[in-house]
Order: sequence, then C-alpha cells, then structure tokens
Amino acid sequence: MTWANASWRTPAFWCGEHVPELPRPPCQHVPYGNTGGTRWGSGKGQPVLSTHAPQAAQAVTLPTTLDEAVAALAAMPAAVPVAGGTDLMAAVNSGQLRPTGLVGLGRISEIRGWQYQDGHALLGAGLTHARMGRPDFAALIPALAAAARAAGPPQIRNAGTLGGNIASAAPTGDALPVLAALEATLIIAGQDGARREIPVSHLLAGVDMLRGGELIGYVRVPLLHAPQVFLKATGRTGPGRAVASVALVLDPARRGVRCAVGAIAPMPLRPLEAEQWVARLIDWDNGRAVVPEALTAFGEYVAAACIPDPTPGVDGSVPELPPAVLHLRRTVAALARRALGRALS
Ligand SMILES: Cc1cc2nc3c(=O)[nH]c(=O)nc-3n(C[C@H](O)[C@H](O)[C@H](O)COP(=O)(O)OP(=O)(O)OC[C@H]3O[C@@H](n4cnc5c(N)ncnc54)[C@H](O)[C@@H]3O)c2cc1C
Repeated sequence: MTWANASWRTPAFWCGEHVPELPRPPCQHVPYGNTGGTRWGSGKGQPVLSTHAPQAAQAVTLPTTLDEAVAALAAMPAAVPVAGGTDLMAAVNSGQLRPTGLVGLGRISEIRGWQYQDGHALLGAGLTHARMGRPDFAALIPALAAAARAAGPPQIRNAGTLGGNIASAAPTGDALPVLAALEATLIIAGQDGARREIPVSHLLAGVDMLRGGELIGYVRVPLLHAPQVFLKATGRTGPGRAVASVALVLDPARRGVRCAVGAIAPMPLRPLEAEQWVARLIDWDNGRAVVPEALTAFGEYVAAACIPDPTPGVDGSVPELPPAVLHLRRTVAALARRALGRALS
C-alpha cells in the first residue's frame, strides 16, 4: 500500500477513533512498503500506479502517550508528527513534503479531551474541530466552537485538530484569531517529561518557535463566562477558507473587549487601541449598553488599524487604497461591527 491508496490519503485514517483496533504494543513502530499484508504494506510487493508523488517515509510510529510521542521524535529526528493529516497529507500529496518517518498522534487519548484548571480550560491538542463544535464545548468557549464549526467541510472537521491548526499557523486558520483574542497559552511537551508554556501569539509571531522534537500538548484558555463571537467572510458560498475573520470576546471581570482579526495578515492582528476605546464606552454596570454609533465607529477603527491608509506622498496627498484592499477593509469593518453588536446584544 502506498500514498496512492485512498485509505492513506483520507485524513480520517489518522484520527484514532477511525483506526480499527489491532493487537499492538503501547508504542507501535511500523515499517512502510511490503510488510506482508498488514494495513501498512501492499502485501504483494507490487508497485502501485499513482498520479501522486511517491512517498519517501520509511516508518510510522503510533505512540499512545505524549511522552512516548516526544521520545519517538527524538529517536527519529527526521520524522514529522501527524495528527488529523488534513494539512500534512495535502503537502505530501502535492510533493511539497517527503517525510522519512511519521509519528501519528491520533492514539494519544490524553490530548483528545479537555479538563478544568484554575478558571481555565486545558484543551488537548488532539481535539478535533468536530468535537469542539459540539454544544457542551460551545457552552464553555463559544468563539472557539464557532470557529471549529466554520473550519472546512465535515471530513476536515472530523479529522483536523486544534494542535494541527496551530502548528500549521496558516493565516486562514480559523482557531487562531480566537486564541489570540482569548490570550491563550500553549503547553509544549519536550523530552524527559519537560513542559514549557508560551503565549499562542509568540508562536504565531515566530518569537518563540517549537524546538526540535517538541509537540504542542495542550492549549490553556481562560474561561470568561461572557459572550464571545467568531465571524468569518469567505469568497464563496459553503465551506471555504477565510478572506477575513474576526474573533471578539468580552471580559467583564476586567471590563475589557478583546478582538483579533484573522486571515488578512500572516498572523492574527489585535487592534489594541480600538479595544480600549470601545471598552470605555460600554456601560458595564447597566446591561453592557453602548450607543449604536459606537458599533459602526468600532468597526471602522478596527479596520483602519489592521489595514491602514497608505503613507502620504511628498506633496502631502494620501493615495487611495486599491479597490480590492478597500473591499477587504470594508469587510473587516462589517465583521467587527457585527461581532461587537452580537456580543453586546
Ligand atoms: C479541504 C480543506 C479545507 C480546509 N478548510 C479549513 C478552514 O476552513 N479553516 C481552517 O482553519 N483550516 C482549514 N483547513 C486546514 C486544516 O484542516 C486545519 O489546519 C487542521 O486543523 C489541521 O489539523 P490536522 O490535525 O489535520 O494537522 P496535520 O495535517 O496532522 O498537521 C499539520 C501540521 O501540524 C503539525 N502538528 C500536528 N499536531 C501537532 C502537535 N500536537 N504538535 C506539534 N505539531 C503538530 C504537523 O507536523 C504538521 O506540520 C482545511 C484543509 C483542507 C485540506
């Protein structure tokens, strides 16, 4: 069996709940190629004709704990971790990536759920979008649930994970602006049980990267018990990548509004001045009321902060933004206005 086989290319393969149970040791090391009839080999030694790039991976390891996964990466430094495989397998199939080994994370049950910890939720990196979209999770972190429900078609939501979304760090990653607005942190697992915690924004900005052999284990998110909104604009009807997205959370304890704009830059943008300005206009003691004009002004403030006017020319005149950029700015303004309106309604 090779990458040409549909079961390999189907991202759901990597999701632990889709893998049929086989007798296996706790940490399985499986060679590719002709392995005499296992699920991983063709069993016939026959080459398979394929329009896809030939794979170069030599081994798949399927650990059952986070520390085993880190140890497997240390043992095979050239191997790459794979969770749902929705991003990684697309790169393999398009020939952009030739992993010499894979460490599958789909059987690590400790990172597939969440737990409460000191007013925070500790989310496992292996949580799928489908799981985060369910009502019990939505009651906990509504904006992340909304982002998960908006992420791609059902096949992608069933397999794609929170950790994969963060590690891929694509500008269109729907979870990313939500995590930025929530000021979430990552618990990163390293060798010999080491754990370190960094803000998600540091990873996305490249200030603090994953080091060799490290894995994202958990995401720590504050539980704010207040309205949160995620809105996304796409260039098409039905599931699609974001052209722009806005996550907005209220933090009544600190009388704060936190907002992040996704997809329009390599990482989510926080319009801090607009957040502070609008937070001062909200009557926090009186049903969080705000004058309607403030919603429109907030939308424009956010959009102008994220997509500023061009710098004036030598004669002092300000050139107009190109029509496509102007359209994007209007889209961001509308999303931010609506997000604040919904959060305060
Ligand atoms: C058709 C299609 C539509 C899509 N639409 C959307 C969309 O609308 N919105 C959206 O946000 N995304 C979308 N995606 C992207 C993708 O589904 C998500 O980014 C998904 O969350 C990735 O998770 P995964 O588990 O599949 O990651 P994988 O593909 O398994 O891994 C992605 C990368 O992350 C690394 N990685 C995975 N887990 C960890 C970990 N725990 N620690 C360290 N590194 C790790 C892998 O090594 C790899 O480099 C789409 C993808 C496809 C193919």
